[in-house]
Amino acid sequence: MAETWTYYDLRDAFAEEGCPVCRLTLASVDRYFDGLNYEAAGDPGVRAKLRDSLGFCNEHAYRWLHVANVLATAQIYRDILSHLVAEIGDLRAPRRGLFTGVAARLPLAGPEGRDSGGAAMLAPSERCPACVVLDRTETMAVETLVRAIPEPGFAAAYRASAGLCLSHLRLALATARDQAAFDVLRDAAVGGWKAILDHLDEIIRRHDYRYTGEPAGDERGAAERALRQTVGTRGIRGRQGPP
Ligand SMILES: [Zn+2]
Ligand SMILES: [Zn+2]
Repeated sequence: MAETWTYYDLRDAFAEEGCPVCRLTLASVDRYFDGLNYEAAGDPGVRAKLRDSLGFCNEHAYRWLHVANVLATAQIYRDILSHLVAEIGDLRAPRRGLFTGVAARLPLAGPEGRDSGGAAMLAPSERCPACVVLDRTETMAVETLVRAIPEPGFAAAYRASAGLCLSHLRLALATARDQAAFDVLRDAAVGGWKAILDHLDEIIRRHDYRYTGEPAGDERGAAERALRQTVGTRGIRGRQGPP
């Protein structure tokens, strides 16, 4: 296959800790935030998109705070709050209808209707842009991995890696159209999970009072590795279906 940046990034990520797709995906969000620190200050078009999404989702808003400069944050949220001030001024009480009370606040309504009384009030018209970056990179990384994995060299590097977290394995298996690619992914997952299981058994055994004096071995950290393998790296949302 014609190798892309994603291909080489994956090869590099195989040598690192944790799920390589998690790593690439979260790095792409960090890069997006890095760029935004500069773009937000000088590009009204970038800020207009952020105004439509009302900034970021909860997860990404707090991640942004860790890396953001104050000027960019002030400019982004000045636009958003100015927009909300204008929008709320045009709102009227919801009409009486099928949806009142708590039902009216459930996210059933679309962006239509300023007086519909549903979640449309003050709702974003666009998705969180960091979520869009995350989904795009995740899809590209999984598709690249599945396409490349029949290559013996790539497969060997993948087998030597920490392997995919469950969320990304699920995506990769659902994406694999080639039985050979599917088999590599499945067999590597079985091997990785069995190795962790052995370590978990050892941790549990060593918690028996008869063995507590024994020095810890390779099982150290396996309980956390099991958790991470299942849930993915922090910041990954865990899609259920194919990209
Ligand atoms: Zn992952
Ligand atoms: Zn988000």
